[in-house]
Amino acid sequence: MGHVKRWMEEQDDSGFRSDRYFDDVCEGCIGDPALAVFVSRNGSIDRCDFCGSTEALGMTVGALFHYMSACLGTEWDDPINEVGWDKGFDSFVQILDSDELLEAVDDPLRNEDLRQEFAYSFQHQWCQRDPYRLEHSEMLLHSWGRFSEVTKTQRRFLIGRASAKPKDPRDELLDPIEVLDAVGDAIRQADWRMIGRTSDTVIVRARAHAPNESHGSPSALGSPPPTAASHNRMSGAGISMFYGAHSEETAIAEIRPSAGQAVTVARWRPARELVYLDLLGARPIPSLFDMTARIDRTWLRFLAAFADDLARPVEPDDAPIEYIPTQIVTEFVRDHLQTPAGRPIDAIRYRSAVDGPDGVCWVVFADPGDCGAIGDGQKRLLLMNPSSVQRPTG
Ligand SMILES: [Zn+2]
Repeated sequence: MGHVKRWMEEQDDSGFRSDRYFDDVCEGCIGDPALAVFVSRNGSIDRCDFCGSTEALGMTVGALFHYMSACLGTEWDDPINEVGWDKGFDSFVQILDSDELLEAVDDPLRNEDLRQEFAYSFQHQWCQRDPYRLEHSEMLLHSWGRFSEVTKTQRRFLIGRASAKPKDPRDELLDPIEVLDAVGDAIRQADWRMIGRTSDTVIVRARAHAPNESHGSPSALGSPPPTAASHNRMSGAGISMFYGAHSEETAIAEIRPSAGQAVTVARWRPARELVYLDLLGARPIPSLFDMTARIDRTWLRFLAAFADDLARPVEPDDAPIEYIPTQIVTEFVRDHLQTPAGRPIDAIRYRSAVDGPDGVCWVVFADPGDCGAIGDGQKRLLLMNPSSVQRPTG
């Protein structure tokens, strides 16, 4: 078989045919960082036929499009293979042309000529793989949505027991009883991003109080006694946990002191290594063109949306109902989630709902007895630095 005929057939097998197959393209013409790394690893080219850069790193258009075709094929397909036809493709399924597809995958090609060459070379249309089934991350997210609704408005305390009512067999979503385990599975699947360890993080905790009061001890500035533990994002009234933040500003913003109240803050450190669920870990979601990290895209897409929902701003008046689903998840994380090596989780790190977009919060599963001072002779989880106690307001 002739050389030209072979490469034309190879192109057809990958779903494209390009007249510029042997033109060179440089990494600078690529917008997606993972795709740019792939292109740069190929070695140097004399001149980029798209932007004119000389002595850049790059590869041929053919090699680039072959790789892109393989990556895209993990999530996208030609609708001819997937979608029902009756005088046109089934209107339930979103059909994209190649230009729209590039937009849908966050515009991986920066150079406009290259982008046009892609659209010209891949002349077929695109749809998501398995378009008649909910994509797994969407199924998880919808199941979480239903879990939230059920626990807010229907049933709460026995959510872990199966309902006696039979489930509709057409229902694609997980039963509420299955949702917490599915969340746990997603976290373990992506544990390299979602589980963190720290021995030296500083956590700032703030306490609002009357201006004539003065507080300086670990027992006064650590986790509240259960009788004083109020309704909170991650814990119900009467359940004591240690809420803090990465910065003093976020710690104060989170406790929302009322006018006329004073605030005292203190800095705390772990007494031992803390293992924490990192709800900030789901982002950035790996690129479709990242050959190794992309296997976790499904889990991370779900976990990113789930983390957003957990950190959603809630009006104080709505909190008693709106915080119920996150409180249940927090108890699940504390009591049932483990690292792959079997270690329990000590804390959750999450985005602040009131000091965004960079405010970072912590909840540590520490009751008053877990909070102490360095050298007090007790087994603690968190230690306060006495010299850090300050009264920034009031
Ligand atoms: Zn270029």
